[in-house]
Amino acid sequence: MFNLSHPKLVTLAETEGYAEVADFLEDHTLRSIVPAICMAPDCDHTAELEPDQRAGICEACGRASMKSGLVIAGLI
Ligand SMILES: [Zn+2]
Repeated sequence: MFNLSHPKLVTLAETEGYAEVADFLEDHTLRSIVPAICMAPDCDHTAELEPDQRAGICEACGRASMKSGLVIAGLI
């Protein structure tokens, strides 16, 4: 199922300058590197990672909690 209202996804889209999550996804769906965000509750670090990244290391908090926006949305 698609999930376009996940708070982390909304934060990630806003960080990238998008008012709408759908516009953010449309622009990044076919890229080889996409914006990702740390899923830790106390961390909103973002980085450019592989589209299927589910457990990337966060450079801000050190946890393996970086997820690509496409994964959070359920597109991958
Ligand atoms: Zn983090």
